[in-house]
Amino acid sequence: MKTHSPRTTLFLSLAVTSFSMARADKPNLVVIMADDLGYADVGFNGCEDIPTPHIDSIAADGVKFTNGYVSYAVCGPSRAGFITGRYEQRFGFERNPQYRPDDPKMGLPTEETTIANSLGKVGYRCGVVGKWHLGANDVHHPLERGFHQFFGHLGGGHRYMPEELTIKESTAATGEAESYRTWILNNHTPVKPTKYLTDQFSDAAVTFVSSNKDKPFFLFLSYNAPHTPLQATTEYLNRFPDITDKKRKTYAAMVSAVDDGVGRVLGKLREFKMEDNTLVFFLSDNGGPTTKNASRNTPLKGDKGSAWEGGYRVPFAARWPGGLPKGKAYRQPVSSLDIFATIAALSGAPIDPQRPLDGVNLVPYVTGKKIGPPHEAIYLRMFDSQKYAIRSGDHKLVIPARNVKPQLYNVTADVSESTNLASGNPEILDELKQNLDAWTRGLVEPRFPGLIHTPAYQNRAKKAKAK
Ligand code: CA
Repeated sequence: MKTHSPRTTLFLSLAVTSFSMARADKPNLVVIMADDLGYADVGFNGCEDIPTPHIDSIAADGVKFTNGYVSYAVCGPSRAGFITGRYEQRFGFERNPQYRPDDPKMGLPTEETTIANSLGKVGYRCGVVGKWHLGANDVHHPLERGFHQFFGHLGGGHRYMPEELTIKESTAATGEAESYRTWILNNHTPVKPTKYLTDQFSDAAVTFVSSNKDKPFFLFLSYNAPHTPLQATTEYLNRFPDITDKKRKTYAAMVSAVDDGVGRVLGKLREFKMEDNTLVFFLSDNGGPTTKNASRNTPLKGDKGSAWEGGYRVPFAARWPGGLPKGKAYRQPVSSLDIFATIAALSGAPIDPQRPLDGVNLVPYVTGKKIGPPHEAIYLRMFDSQKYAIRSGDHKLVIPARNVKPQLYNVTADVSESTNLASGNPEILDELKQNLDAWTRGLVEPRFPGLIHTPAYQNRAKKAKAK
């Protein structure tokens, strides 16, 4: 048998290293964002009744973030934060926008820089598939915000069955509910889907990967599932004969369709041998709205819209064989805002000095090159409900509702936020309060009225109260 001398082995391993480093230059980025998926509804967070093998493979082959946060507890603002890498409260995107194709102010402010703007400058092809929700006016269209391709819908959700999509032009929809029935935009051209919408988006994602495999790319695969309306095909429903609760069964079927799509995208990366050089993130845009879609956030307290952990701590995983360890659970708090900072650091994409990122490059922290937490603190403000939170280390100060005194929890020891430690720890409380106040001083008030200010929403809220 032929053996290598130590010197030859060293040379070979150096050669392999430099080869893989060359390939790791400008890794592709795929961000798969589910909509209203509960913390507990993926296998890697312990879900038992909905198998998610493909989503789980991202965590198993990479890193599971057990303390992964988004920057807001509902869809629109959370997405505005992710896409700019900055707390959206800094630029007034603090409400779910109304669906207003006629209003150039109702969406992501045009002065803000998106992750696609930045990556486009270093040669990336950027595509978004699925839900946009950052404004329905022409100025907010993904192709005006740095993306080169768009296949999706502009509003905050969508109906899933092709026969229900009866409004051809997105500009013809007069509000959020009607926007759920529009055709799907292929760039600027309305097309009528032929499939269950989640499958249609998975098709488009796979096509995007295939057609951009020769250059660095960024795919934002933004499933609107499992956001309401709860709709699934028989094929997916039949996978859950043992779930008797109808809502949970449909929800499970919807999550299963997303998982299939994730599997198809990962399979395509494998087929083109791009797995090693593609950084894949999976996360939800906010916590599960448990009563609306039968999602679960256990053991976290609260749900979508809440400043408790269940509102904004989400399923969060990343996979990048070229640069991240395999099968690691990372327990320091991280943020969806870190995705932009991470890919910018890896690709050399420029950052607007006027708009410094709030995220950090996670890679050195996850690999252990940098010790300690990536963030001094993770913040939350929800202006209209006057909810606040700051997480620093093990501790979290939370103001769970307007005019409620700040509460203090050790969310490492007490992940369900059950024991308020405020009275016994005035110093910790005070320090967190000062830190939160300092952050709040850098914010502005919301710049546009939200979905909650529309008559349709207010009538629904009135009816719900009367019940
Ligand atoms: Ca959402």
